[in-house]
Formats: sequence, C-alpha cells, structure tokens
Amino acid sequence: MSAPRVAVLGSGPAGLTAALYLSRANLPPVVYEGMQPGGQLTITTDVDNFPGFPEGIMGPELMERMKKQCERFGAKFVTDEVVKVEGTGPFKLTTSYTEPMEVDAVVIATGATARYIGLENESRLQGHGVSACATCDGFFFQGADVVVVGGGDSAMEEATFLTKFAKKVTLIHRRDTLRASKIMQERAMKNPKVEFLWSHEVVDVLGGEKVTGVRVRDRKSGEERDLACGGLFLAIGHTPNTAAIRDHIDVDDKGYVIPKEAGRTYTSRDGIFACGDVQDTTYRQAITAAGSGCMAAMDVEKWLEETHHGS
Ligand code: NAP
Repeated sequence: MSAPRVAVLGSGPAGLTAALYLSRANLPPVVYEGMQPGGQLTITTDVDNFPGFPEGIMGPELMERMKKQCERFGAKFVTDEVVKVEGTGPFKLTTSYTEPMEVDAVVIATGATARYIGLENESRLQGHGVSACATCDGFFFQGADVVVVGGGDSAMEEATFLTKFAKKVTLIHRRDTLRASKIMQERAMKNPKVEFLWSHEVVDVLGGEKVTGVRVRDRKSGEERDLACGGLFLAIGHTPNTAAIRDHIDVDDKGYVIPKEAGRTYTSRDGIFACGDVQDTTYRQAITAAGSGCMAAMDVEKWLEETHHGS
C-alpha cells in the first residue's frame, strides 16, 4: 500500500505551514518552491508582527527556519515552478525545468504578487524604503514623510494607517477621482496628516542606500519635480499567481481562487486545495497565510482518508 502523494505549490508561509502539517501527518509532500523561494517575505526586511519573535526577525530568516522545520519532518523541496495542473486525480504537474509528476492531492499556495510601477530604482530600493505593505513596514517610518501611490481602497487604508507613524502622508493618484469606496475616501480625506496629490505619477525613486524622495510628474502639464520622503508605499493592486490552475479550478474575475465553501480550503475541484494570498483579498498577512496553510493540510488529510486515494 503506497502512501498518497501530495504536492504543495509555493513556499511562502501558507505553503510551508501546509508542508509542515502534512509531513507531521505522515504525508510528506513535494514542495515546488516557485520562482521566488520563500515568497513575499523574502523581499521584506524586519518582520515584527509574527508571534514568537519578540526581537523581530528578518523575513528571509523566518522563511529559512520554516523550511528547515519542514525538512526535519520529511518534506522535499524542488526549486522549480509548476506551470500546469491537469487531470481529475491523480493530477499531472508540468514544471518549467524538472520532470512532470503525478500526485493524488495538490495544495495551491502560490500567493499573490504586489504590483509595482516598474521603475529601476523602485526595485533596487525594495525593503529600503520601498514597500507594498503598510501593515508590515509602517512601524519603521516613525516621524517620517511618506508617499502612498494608488487610488483604491488599499491606498486609502494604507494612507490612513500610516498616519499612526508618519509625520505626513502624501497620497499620489494618477487621476483626479478615486476608485476607492466613499467611506474609505472620506476617512483618508478628513485625516489632517494626509495630503492628496492629484493627477500625478511617480517617475523615479531617489536615494542611494535608502529612499530620500520621489520624482513626480504632473500628468496634465508634464512638469516634473522632486518630493522629499523617507518611504514609498505602493498600493496599486495585487496579482494572484494562478496562471497554472486558472483553467482547472474556479477563480474570480481577478484570478483569485474561489473556495468551494466559505472558510474552507477545498476548491471547485476535488483534490485541489488552496491557502494563503492566492485566495485571500482581505488579510494578506504572513500569520493568516500560515493559519490557512494549516487548514489546507488538515483538509487534505481528511479528504485523502475519505477517498482512500493511492492506497
Ligand atoms: P484596486 O481597487 O485595483 O485599485 C488600484 C489603484 O491603483 C487604482 O486607483 C489604480 O488607478 C491605481 N493604479 C494601478 N496601476 C497603477 C500604476 N501603474 N501607477 C499608478 N497607479 C496605479 O486595488 P486595491 O485598492 O488593492 O483593492 C483591491 C480590492 O480589495 C478592491 O476590491 C477593494 O475594494 C478591496 N479592498 C477592500 C478594503 C476594505 O474594504 N477594507 C481594503 C483594501 C482593499 P486607477 O483608479 O486610475 O485605475
């Protein structure tokens, strides 16, 4: 009787927690790490909101520790990405570089990628003043002037949140009307620390070791000027990483996985489970991703037991 084979796609907090729980349930999975092993936390610096680390921990170190914990219980890691999932069980996984593989259950934990403007200095200064998560990094900007880019609910929420720490928040939006809901707009607008810069775009990020300002362009006059700031927060949306499974399970119009049942990790296809940011448009935190990874592993275990797959 061979043990059922399980694959985890993604190696952020959701994928690694799923892998840990699966391994400890005698279902050690193969973890496809993806093109950014460790996920979004590897591009942040200090993580001060993950319970259990009173002094804080660097994002890459946290992920390295989670990986070691999984390996201790038998999970196997493959530095590759799954580009296609096919079949109704067993599932065929096609990868970019390694041999295709067949498994009995799949955990999708491929996350979402925060959108960036696409400027060279923006990527160079990521983690050094450029961030796409105010909840994660806002605390480090006590007394600073910061800039938020975007005109949706996230931008309003992040700008308002950042006023707890920053001296001033300049919200830069590319148009002169916001996409955000009325209530979120009003909250940001009536905050005396938030200033709006309409119809402007950020065309460069300034600073050597860390952010010292941004260059903005007035989209109406074409005029450019520099704005001093210590932080640049992007709130221009996220893209869920669902290209490999989009045609195989139900996703919403933005590409996020729709759970079969609210609050569970089952998807529209039996044997495929989803956890973490790939199915979460609300919380997007390392700890919530880890929690849903645990749920996915428990759901996989239960489902395999019920269906006796591979046994
Ligand atoms: P979003 O609604 O898609 O808004 C993205 C914003 O970024 C838009 O204003 C867009 O400008 C701007 N943008 C996009 N690409 C840009 C670029 N290259 N340069 C400059 N600006 C750019 O995304 P979101 O705010 O992250 O919200 C996503 C979903 O989550 C929404 O459904 C939202 O309601 C929800 N959400 C809800 C809450 C809440 O209720 N508490 C909080 C956060 C998010 P344009 O307007 O010109 O297109």
